[in-house]
Amino acid sequence: MRDRRNFQQPCFVLINVHFCARPWRRTCLTSHDPVGLCVDSGLLPRRREQCSCPFKCCCFSRYFFTRNKSTLVAFAVGKKYEPGNGFNLIGAHTDSPCLKLKPNSASKKSGFLTINAETYGGGLWCTWFDRDLSVAGRVLVREENGKLVHKLVKIERPIMRIPMLAIHLYRDIYREGFKPNNQTHLAPILATSVKAECEGRGQGQEGSSQQHHAALLDILAAELGRSDPADIVDFELNVCDTQAGVIGGAAREFVFCGRLDNLSSTYCAARALVDSTPNEDALSEELSIRGIALFDHEEVGSSSAVGAGGPVMRDAMTRVTRCLSDGHPDAVERCFKKSFLVSADMAHALHPNYPEKHDGDHQPKFHKGLVIKTNVNQRYATNLVSSALFREVGKRRGILCQEFSVRNDSPCGSTIGPILSSSLGCRTVDVGAPQLSMHSIREMCATDDIDLSYRHFVAFFELFSEVDGTLSVDEIPAELPVIDDVPCNTL
Ligand SMILES: [Zn+2]
Repeated sequence: MRDRRNFQQPCFVLINVHFCARPWRRTCLTSHDPVGLCVDSGLLPRRREQCSCPFKCCCFSRYFFTRNKSTLVAFAVGKKYEPGNGFNLIGAHTDSPCLKLKPNSASKKSGFLTINAETYGGGLWCTWFDRDLSVAGRVLVREENGKLVHKLVKIERPIMRIPMLAIHLYRDIYREGFKPNNQTHLAPILATSVKAECEGRGQGQEGSSQQHHAALLDILAAELGRSDPADIVDFELNVCDTQAGVIGGAAREFVFCGRLDNLSSTYCAARALVDSTPNEDALSEELSIRGIALFDHEEVGSSSAVGAGGPVMRDAMTRVTRCLSDGHPDAVERCFKKSFLVSADMAHALHPNYPEKHDGDHQPKFHKGLVIKTNVNQRYATNLVSSALFREVGKRRGILCQEFSVRNDSPCGSTIGPILSSSLGCRTVDVGAPQLSMHSIREMCATDDIDLSYRHFVAFFELFSEVDGTLSVDEIPAELPVIDDVPCNTL
């Protein structure tokens, strides 16, 4: 329900006061759509960022916008906000390694209709074999009036599979290991040619130039409520696992689910923002703007129009600050200096079967909360000040966290933290919940760590402005003289 009191044709979108009470493990965490994730968390409705109408701040303003339906920024303005104050942000990524359908997805070989798919990111591709697969993504549909409409779609039933080669034909696997070729061995099977022809969908011979299989277009059209598959102009579809996330383990202490990296972080961030701003009173003492920024394309380096390496974050912070600052000349620059980013991305838990992969004194474990990631070579943006402030907000709520530093003889991963920190100049800490099986089609983490992440993020939103006010790093000592105005010719 839209809060009409504060809806003044904003360029961004008002976030609903209420949130959906549906269980997260069946909705948000298994969602392939970050907008759906936020809507499920109570952030709705939305309007177009491209709108040129003036953004007006109200005393209780909560907004979000999306770019490309895959990157999302949401924020709530504190009631004590003053021009030039900063953003207290949690950033995360929405994408995960997967197979994406190629522009010409249809292929036929050996009596099967197969799908041409491209590998996206660094997936553990061997885990995609023998899974019950489907597709999810977005489709452009032509309406009767000729307009093109953008729609999200997910086929729930398993419609394709990448079968393993039987062991009887693959004895080498014992000696050489499983080494599939990503071009020739990762093509999902959609149907048999003979069955497709029986159903009138078998047009085209092997090697013909049909763009997409008619069988796939029929399924998509039915899912979208269209009688004519020709209404589908084109699509961007990901191959996805159909198995839902579950709670597992003898004591029900685990989450078994695809894409925990990084939907676990995006869910906890969105939920923490909504729950830390339930009403006007919750923002009555807030000096800053609380926000989340969820980016696409992290798994392929973040350099895109909607990735963390693009202009989204700078655009959003600049535009919001200008709108709220009534012409203050340096409000935007001061905003970047005062802002703080929690870069949230899942961490590698200690694997009991491979303990040698971790530094002996930096071994993230389940049930011990968020991992603060530090790397002096700046693969992570954490430093003394950012880690201390983040630790402190948790400590005030009795929430502990743990430390990670990579082995010196091992390469170190990276996150959106250094990318945003270096482009915006804001203080940043890299954190993440510990997990196993990262980049497998089916990952694993601990339920406790989801809870601890969520509570630490809530503490960050609710306490950070106060804690930050107690620490000054670049302040000029009082005993030093301050030069207010130096004539140019004396420099
Ligand atoms: Zn990640």
